[in-house]
Amino acid sequence: MDGILSGKSALVTGASSGIGRAAAVALAEAGARVAVVARRADRLADLAAQIEAGGGKALVRAADVTSEADATGAVEDAAGHFGGLDILVNAAGMTQVGKVENGNLDDWRYVLELNFWASLYTSRAAIPLLRAGGGDIVNISSTAGRRAVGATFGPYAASKFALTALNESLRAEVTLAGIRVCIIEPGATATEIHEHIKDEKVREFTRNHVEKDGAMQPEDVAAAIVFAVSLPPRVNISQLVIRPSVDARVL
Ligand code: NDP
Repeated sequence: MDGILSGKSALVTGASSGIGRAAAVALAEAGARVAVVARRADRLADLAAQIEAGGGKALVRAADVTSEADATGAVEDAAGHFGGLDILVNAAGMTQVGKVENGNLDDWRYVLELNFWASLYTSRAAIPLLRAGGGDIVNISSTAGRRAVGATFGPYAASKFALTALNESLRAEVTLAGIRVCIIEPGATATEIHEHIKDEKVREFTRNHVEKDGAMQPEDVAAAIVFAVSLPPRVNISQLVIRPSVDARVL
């Protein structure tokens, strides 16, 4: 497919639903070949079929990115298949709730594993490949990475604050090697993120939050991702906050 990203190869984690899925479609529509990564291979196959029906090129790579070996293997396989890698989008993520005093520590650890460590694994694997010709790493954070809201969302906020620190450290590390690093911080976006929350009340609260009137659609965030990676190499969108227009909070 011809477009501003023609000739580029991308890998998107979390591509089986929500923001990652929309990002994969938008990158393909802009001309990139896209490796789609998540655990649900059936969904990835449907997505790849959609991309290829539209004239794009897609590679399905099922992986659990909380496993360093899986995450690294997915990046290396994508680069091997496409003959290189130009764009990495880390969109795999989730939330569970838990207080400091009595929250389930396995939940705390898992949220950090997925929202922070997985991006570290894929980025480490991608850096040498991106150095070859310059490229982009885009991390999907959240407005919760700017301000921790409420007592129960500690694991999520901690993971996203950590991701911001990783993003900025990485940017300092690789910018002069021609790799642009960008963190995108969306507000409420209508996805499946609520479905995996174990606490029923919080699951319902989160569903209402992300599906409220005026919430963004995953395609809105995907458009921002394509914008950031399509700018001339001299421009680095290092941090981008995207909110629904109905969100008037200051931070
Ligand atoms: P979804 O639940 O729709 O998508 C999450 C994606 O992550 C799925 O594709 C899922 O695929 C994948 N994933 C989960 N666990 C793993 C794993 N272990 N290995 C590989 N992939 C995994 O949620 P969103 O699209 O909303 O979330 C995407 C990102 O956007 C997250 O980082 C989230 O924090 C962030 N975000 C979302 C907001 C919102 O309001 N929706 C607001 C701000 C930020 P599978 O289950 O097949 O593995």
